[in-house]
Amino acid sequence: MSSDSKNTTAPGESAAPKNFIRTIIDRDLAKGRHPSIVTRFPPEPNGFLHIGHAKSICLNFGLARDYDGVCHLRFDDTNPEKEEDFYARAIQDDVRWLGFDWGETVYHASDYFEQLYGFAVELIEKGLAYVDSQSPDKIRAQRGTLTEPGQNSPYRDRPAQESLDLFARMRAGEFEEGQCVLRARIDMASPQIILRDPVLYRIRKVAHQRTGDTWCIYPMYDFTHCLSDALEGITHSICTLEFQDNRALYDWVLDNVPSAPCHPQQLEFARLNINYTVTSKRKLLQLVDKNFVSGWDDPRMPTIQGMRRRGFPAAAIRDFCTQIGVSKKDSCVDMGFLESCVRDDLNDNAPRAFAVLDPLKVVIENYPEEQVEEFELANHPKRPDMGTRTVSFSRELYIERNDFLEDAPKKFFRLAPGREVRLRGAYFVTCTEVIKDDAGSIVELRCTYDPQTRGGDAPDGRKVKGTLHWLSARHAIEAEVRLYDRLFTEENPTGDKERDFKEFINPNSLTILPDARVEAGLAEAEAEQCFQFERQGYFSRDREQSETGKPVFNRTVTLRDSWAKKK
Ligand code: ATP
Ligand code: MG
Repeated sequence: MSSDSKNTTAPGESAAPKNFIRTIIDRDLAKGRHPSIVTRFPPEPNGFLHIGHAKSICLNFGLARDYDGVCHLRFDDTNPEKEEDFYARAIQDDVRWLGFDWGETVYHASDYFEQLYGFAVELIEKGLAYVDSQSPDKIRAQRGTLTEPGQNSPYRDRPAQESLDLFARMRAGEFEEGQCVLRARIDMASPQIILRDPVLYRIRKVAHQRTGDTWCIYPMYDFTHCLSDALEGITHSICTLEFQDNRALYDWVLDNVPSAPCHPQQLEFARLNINYTVTSKRKLLQLVDKNFVSGWDDPRMPTIQGMRRRGFPAAAIRDFCTQIGVSKKDSCVDMGFLESCVRDDLNDNAPRAFAVLDPLKVVIENYPEEQVEEFELANHPKRPDMGTRTVSFSRELYIERNDFLEDAPKKFFRLAPGREVRLRGAYFVTCTEVIKDDAGSIVELRCTYDPQTRGGDAPDGRKVKGTLHWLSARHAIEAEVRLYDRLFTEENPTGDKERDFKEFINPNSLTILPDARVEAGLAEAEAEQCFQFERQGYFSRDREQSETGKPVFNRTVTLRDSWAKKK
């Protein structure tokens, strides 16, 4: 974790830790530079949001919340793309699910196309922009390198009037893509390559999702972003460190466009990286397209939709983002830390239930055939407010197959021939016989129960070492349970530039248990509702059913950090 997050002691959202961005905001407000703050979250609607975006969302919306300011949701939609609307809707859904609200207006960079055009005209009039009639390849070749200056374009000193005319004709569609561009006229010898007459506008004869065929020239990111910020009165424009070099251009544009309404301050922080996964839309798209996962919302994906489907509570994700803090130093956060935030939340809030993932039948020989008893069990050991549920008990039960061992060592405190255990909340039972099929596999256990131990305690004070979960065979319902593991086998799947990250996909990231049993009450569980399956972990109901029509439960997280032990 970063050094800035050292004072991140208090978990939870109310106690956001101090960080360098808050220090700057405090100073700006104290100096009266702004009456209040305005931040923004500016996704490009070309993919689904992932945990990295969640960090940016929590940061920007969290600052607005804590400082009584506002945070705009703005789509950075300067690349005309077909599926924009589909992604834009999913993004809004995700931000809302994470618990944030952007008010009445959804902002779009495309709303500013006309104003941006006007700003570009102002730059041309001031002699600070020109139409370059060279090919993109030529322009690239003249850019120079870190050690060599670039070369001036032969069109650099073209009269402003000529550029104005050409720019208008670019807009009118008189030129083909790549025939000419509008460039800022800054300094081809600048040590900051970004300032070597960057392209501000290019021709793209593609319809835009929102503006249709109105435009065939589209502004570049560096020109659009700062001016969109200025038009919206953004006070602090917070982005990731990759944009540090772009800040020079951000500032240049705002300093030089005469009618730019204000000059927001760009601040950069380190992007979130998490081990055993990838956080890049482009790479996540490959996983989806090549069917390594079932979709953007596959519960193994680090997308907001995937995490949500897996059962991660929004509050746990927010808590994670608060706790990792904000810094200027790149770092990689342990996936186990995200999981521990989820576990902490679910430990407090998820009702308990019995589920037998790999059932082994147990017949209680001295229990009457037709008898059924109902045991009232607490939904949460520490929260009486969460109430109780009834679980039926009968002569035929299921226990977990790995809770029985025929040749059990002494320290095996579960069931074995001749040994007594507690069936949680019900009775003590003793194994009397093991029944096998012809192949020698155990198919059933015969047990006896002690009627004196009703409720799970012996009146004579005798103790048993093991307590097992169980289900009545005839009352439990069938379910499919899906266990998830890390998506990648390597901590840093993109670390080896010689090899494709997809080579490191974990072939065992999904295990399906098709024949599990769960408490009957879970038939009513809603999609994404989470439970602690006692002794097994935290699980959430999937929105879909299995191919055979059973309810599906996804393992959200294990009870403990099993990975920490493996390492
Ligand atoms: P990707 O790298 O996955 O393609 P992006 O940066 O292109 O993401 P945008 O839609 O442009 O995606 O991102 C919207 C906002 O989210 C930007 O302000 C960006 O800086 C921020 N963001 C993206 N990835 C991360 C990350 N890993 N950590 C923190 N913030 C991020
Ligand atoms: Mg981006």
